Amino acid sequence: MLDTALLDDLGRALGPGLRLDQAALEAAATDDSGLRHPPQAVFFPRNADEIARLMGLSTRYGFPVTPRGAGTGLCGGCLAREGGLVVDTTAMARILSVDTINGVAVVEPGVVTKTLRDAAATVGLFYPPDPASFATCTLGGNAATNAGGPACVKYGVTRDYVLGLTAVLPDGEILKTGVATRKGVVGYDLAGLLVGSEGTLGIITELTLKLIPHPREVRTAVALFADARAAVAAVSAVMTSGICPSAVEFLDRACLGLVTELLPFKLPGDDAALLLLEVDGDPDTAARDIGRVAAICRDSRALSVLPADDAARREQLWDIRRQTSTRIHESAPVYLSEDTVVPIARIPDLIDALPGLAQRFGLTVYAFGHAGDGNIHVNVTGEAGSRERGHALVRALVAAVLSLGGTMSGEHGVGITKQPFIDMELSPRSLALQQGLKRLFDPDSRLNPGKVLPR
Ligand SMILES: Cc1cc2nc3c(=O)[nH]c(=O)nc-3n(C[C@H](O)[C@H](O)[C@H](O)COP(=O)(O)OP(=O)(O)OC[C@H]3O[C@@H](n4cnc5c(N)ncnc54)[C@H](O)[C@@H]3O)c2cc1C
Repeated sequence: MLDTALLDDLGRALGPGLRLDQAALEAAATDDSGLRHPPQAVFFPRNADEIARLMGLSTRYGFPVTPRGAGTGLCGGCLAREGGLVVDTTAMARILSVDTINGVAVVEPGVVTKTLRDAAATVGLFYPPDPASFATCTLGGNAATNAGGPACVKYGVTRDYVLGLTAVLPDGEILKTGVATRKGVVGYDLAGLLVGSEGTLGIITELTLKLIPHPREVRTAVALFADARAAVAAVSAVMTSGICPSAVEFLDRACLGLVTELLPFKLPGDDAALLLLEVDGDPDTAARDIGRVAAICRDSRALSVLPADDAARREQLWDIRRQTSTRIHESAPVYLSEDTVVPIARIPDLIDALPGLAQRFGLTVYAFGHAGDGNIHVNVTGEAGSRERGHALVRALVAAVLSLGGTMSGEHGVGITKQPFIDMELSPRSLALQQGLKRLFDPDSRLNPGKVLPR
């Protein structure tokens, strides 16, 4: 693929942004999926023209190119599965503008999500998509995966905030698509297609993002339940109450067991589970709504509801929530991260199915996540050598989720890890249409090959 002579040519054509040293190759060999696929070279471009030059070379010599942001993905999407070169976009990290009158930001793809959220907040604006990895992941990675997060239950996902984008196509052409306005319906929605395409159709080099007014007040509370079923049964009651919460996060007992020393309260019993609930808006509305949400939880058998009285306590609770997936990841050598979604009324059925799956395959199952939109992260761990069993469990899990009217991925995407299951969810016709789209953009399958769709 990339022999020494070709690597020399690339070095001359691409300059010092091309790295062949072991440290660079190793850093690009993994993401948070636990998979490992070292590339043969890593390129750190400074602008779209440099990426266009790279894709021109890829066209001429036929080597694969894989886009990468911060590498926090959970399904191997940014790994060079078929070798070749990784394009690391983290050096393209400028916020180019924040237009406070029109509520629009223009950013490079390597901007860290939190950096934009913080910059918007300083001028009274809000960029809502908030993956739990928001302190490290990039906006390019978020757009490529159509990332969600806790606030998406109220505010929607990344796609709802991408007005337009610029991308380098597999043949090296630079495409600007979408709008810089609040609305726009001219032609097919190519920006919407590139969002969520997991770096298989184009390399995003600029994003035009919608910002909204920042809520003035946020109120948070924790509701403790005797068990997971009781906790998730309360979710439907909250979501049908007429209040639109800005977060409804769930943690089961297994998850709480990994963060026990961080909890600022005592758990009520051995099977206890919790909901982390948030509302926002004007101070009066937020104060009223958190009271109503607390009352709904009590009516739905919460054993106690504990308000977070200040910003420090709120941050402490969110830190516990965010630490959960990291701790699960670190708890065992084999770790599979699934982000299934079911209709919220069916979450109790999904929760009921999990102990049986864990027992049948002899593995540990953790459930947590964005319960307000039915997006339950089912994490599977096991001892060394149990990966195959883990895959068998995931296959059974996907079948269960589909039978409940759900989907196997709400936000992490397909990448490598979910590809073996994609035909369980998509019809042959749907797959064939999507493979046709991929061929239209990338006839030789050089951009992020081996991801999402089977060939
Ligand atoms: C602790 C933890 C918590 C998480 N919580 C959430 C969560 O709440 N919600 C959620 O949605 N995800 C979550 N994730 C998953 C992950 O953070 C997201 O998928 C994120 O969007 C990936 O961004 P990244 O910059 O790390 O991209 P990477 O992992 O580097 O890449 C992800 C995909 O995007 C493609 N890509 C990256 N940049 C570009 C670009 N410029 N152009 C085209 N394609 C590109 C890659 O090829 C790959 O397919 C979590 C991960 C961790 C480790």
